[in-house]
Amino acid sequence: MKILKFGGTSVGSPESIKKVAEIVADIEGEKIVVLSAMSQTTNVLHQITDAIGASNFVEANSILDMMVDRYKTVIEGLYSTDNIKKTANAFIEERFDFIKSYAHEGSVEYISAIEKIIVAQGEILSTNLFDMYMNEIKVESSLLSAFDFMRIDEAGEPDSDFITESLGNIVEANPNTSIYITQGYICLSHLGDVDNLKRGGSDYSASLIGAAIQAEEIQIWTDIDGMHNNDPRYVDNTFSLKEISFDEAAELAYFGAKILHPQSVIPAKEKNIPVLLKNTFNPESAGTIICNCSVPASKVRAIAAKDGITAIRIKSYRMLMAYGFLKNIFEVFEKFKTSIDMVTTSEVAVSLTIDDDSNLDKIVKELENIGIVKVDTDLSIICLAGDFSEKQKGGSAAIFNSLTNIPIRMISYGGSNYNVSLLVNSIDKIKALRDLNKGVFTEN
Ligand code: ADP
Ligand code: ASP
Ligand code: MG
Repeated sequence: MKILKFGGTSVGSPESIKKVAEIVADIEGEKIVVLSAMSQTTNVLHQITDAIGASNFVEANSILDMMVDRYKTVIEGLYSTDNIKKTANAFIEERFDFIKSYAHEGSVEYISAIEKIIVAQGEILSTNLFDMYMNEIKVESSLLSAFDFMRIDEAGEPDSDFITESLGNIVEANPNTSIYITQGYICLSHLGDVDNLKRGGSDYSASLIGAAIQAEEIQIWTDIDGMHNNDPRYVDNTFSLKEISFDEAAELAYFGAKILHPQSVIPAKEKNIPVLLKNTFNPESAGTIICNCSVPASKVRAIAAKDGITAIRIKSYRMLMAYGFLKNIFEVFEKFKTSIDMVTTSEVAVSLTIDDDSNLDKIVKELENIGIVKVDTDLSIICLAGDFSEKQKGGSAAIFNSLTNIPIRMISYGGSNYNVSLLVNSIDKIKALRDLNKGVFTEN
């Protein structure tokens, strides 16, 4: 069994949906097709819930009307039979009426639950429309609701046992089905309420599904020919990598390479399932394979950046690194369930970074019992993934020589053999990525 995940742009227009169907039909063997919502849909659904949350029902309805128009145009361009057009129009009308039913004062109080129900409609729409298209072109497929198997636990983490058991039962009960179509991103909570795997979560769905059924391969089809050596949104002359290791890919995804959801490499890595990144709009291109393969060592393989970082410095009142000082600090973060990304220490102080600042005030208040606290915001972590083991010489020189004009707030080196992280002001991020691209990859 293979998992084939297609992102928002890949299902964003009638032409691309047709391309996706062609790719799915061309790939041999059994497969589970995981789809995102059509491009922009999740953003627009969030705008609608924001408008409902602000009691702005006129705006919510007018955004909805524009959405209905877009989906009607897609239906017109996608199907050729009147019968299927009629079914598809009836389906979207029913879904949009359902969303409209929340656009009233009574919803405002329950907006966070309603938001999840509303944003889930994006993937429900795309998968149903795709299934109808497969039906029209006579490719047999079976629509599978993600709510039947995708679940998160109380801590918001995927409930792997439940996913494995439920999916296993479904596949076992349907021996003649060779193409399943299901929604990425959406799931149920441990209480059975509609929930999701956070923005970009369809990659994570694909990887969790692949791990649950021990798939032979997970394919992530998107709008670019695989993982590039640097962020193509900010840097020119980036290039696609043929192969990268699970560890490198996991670091890059976690530290901002948007092509993959931050957690999506982990389930594949745990089950040693290769992940192939492919371009829907250029399927001939080899793309990138993420595997346990022995990728030839490279000083720096790729660079990514993550914004919205807050740095916290705690200086010991006792001016000497007291025994238990670090433990006391980490306990505060544990108490507020806030994970730490980077840590550096000096004799008297510790600096660390977080990306979730929802409990920052409480964290700072408690840390002030331990030492003098200083908070800096609007920072970015630049992550360099590659081989930084002792056998590689000169990698760090190339990195720092590239950044002579950029103030660096923190450096993390040696935490693992395959990552170096630098903390910079967000306003310097793009320059840092470009300077590193020139300095590091020319050096290589
Ligand atoms: P999808 O909708 O298919 O999930 P995304 O927009 O989430 O697609 O991810 C693909 C985008 O990720 C690319 O268009 C590219 O702009 C961006 N991106 C950021 N960093 C990288 C990188 N290192 N390699 C490739 N793409 C990247
Ligand atoms: N549709 C969701 C989002 O836009 C999930 C995804 O595309 O992966 O975040
Ligand atoms: Mg994505």
